[in-house]
Amino acid sequence: MTMSKWAQRVNPVVQNIPPSGIRKFFDLVSEMKGVISLGVGEPDFVTPWHIREACIYSLEKGYTMYTSNWGLLELREAVAAELHNTYNVQYNPRNEILITVGVSEALDLAMRTLLQPGDEVLIPEPSYVSYAPCTTLAGGRPVFLPTSLENGFQISADQVRQAITSNTRALLLCYPNNPTGAVMEREELARIAEVAMEHDLVVISDEIYDRLTYVGQHTCMSSFPGMRERTILLNGFSKAYAMTGWRVGYAAGNPDFIGAMTKIHQYSMLCTPITGQMAALEALKNGKAGMRRMVEHYNRRRHLVVQAFKDMGVPCFEPGGAFYAFPQISVTGLNSEQFAEELLKEEQVALVPGNAFGNSGEGFARVSYAASIDDLSEAFRRMARFVRRCGVR
Ligand code: PLP
Repeated sequence: MTMSKWAQRVNPVVQNIPPSGIRKFFDLVSEMKGVISLGVGEPDFVTPWHIREACIYSLEKGYTMYTSNWGLLELREAVAAELHNTYNVQYNPRNEILITVGVSEALDLAMRTLLQPGDEVLIPEPSYVSYAPCTTLAGGRPVFLPTSLENGFQISADQVRQAITSNTRALLLCYPNNPTGAVMEREELARIAEVAMEHDLVVISDEIYDRLTYVGQHTCMSSFPGMRERTILLNGFSKAYAMTGWRVGYAAGNPDFIGAMTKIHQYSMLCTPITGQMAALEALKNGKAGMRRMVEHYNRRRHLVVQAFKDMGVPCFEPGGAFYAFPQISVTGLNSEQFAEELLKEEQVALVPGNAFGNSGEGFARVSYAASIDDLSEAFRRMARFVRRCGVR
């Protein structure tokens, strides 16, 4: 296919980034009627009222200006207190915390801060769709650490060690995991911390699902001795507080990393919108009970989803966190794209083919259970019908 004159003017690095496997699918869904979507990784709850109200009130009071590049100091202080309470790690709100436009921006800033051309980033796979493109766009090279159903979709310290080369700069972790729902065992995480220290790696720890942990206790990399300085902790409000559209997240780490990230942020973004920051402040101050209630709902749905796959005869790893199930749909004899496409066409249920999250996602599908019990029940009735037609059971 010949490229248009203007397409040739697009930076080849950008040109070569493949379109997101999720987007591609949702373009299809948007053209259909009666679809139950278990595809998007987004809470089905509206942001709790007191958070919306706090934002409205801040607008009434005239809070419509730029904030400090770092974000509102009061919000950074609240984040520092939150991190101290949760992980027992202390961050100085004045130079070790940056408020960003979601975890998405924080991730991009971390990559651009750390990477030089050719630097490698280790990424457990299946992985969240933006990790590899963000690495590439920052000039780095993603190196995947495949995980599987057999090992509970967890990476091991040995696997990390074996993947390290003289170009390895960072390890990017996301547990509870998108798309598998896996959580890491603390002991293995401690061994990985040892490897990171041995090989002088920086860990980027995407903690966006930390509050959505249903089994055991979640551990963050920065809480291991010696790891605080070499970890860039990312978190935000999108998932735990049902605030995806507000676009607020943060990064916490040593002053050199966070200072450098702030330098990029101040020129590219200037600051995170004040409305979102005001809402985030209210979420941290008064949002815990509401957040816990939403998490209880997800947990109830989690049980329902795992049982539904069991009943269908489709092997499904029991997710310990986030709001995704990752069933092994290869038992139907279809590959992940065929499964997702045919299920959508025949039964109007949308989910994401596992290969959208990398090669080791092939044979699986990501099912979001951030949906109402009614929608989940109907979607599973339809899915069971489809799976039976494929000859399972
Ligand atoms: N990290 C992971 C693992 C995600 O699943 C998502 C959203 O789905 C993000 C980051 C983006 O979060 P935010 O809305 O804070 O930009």
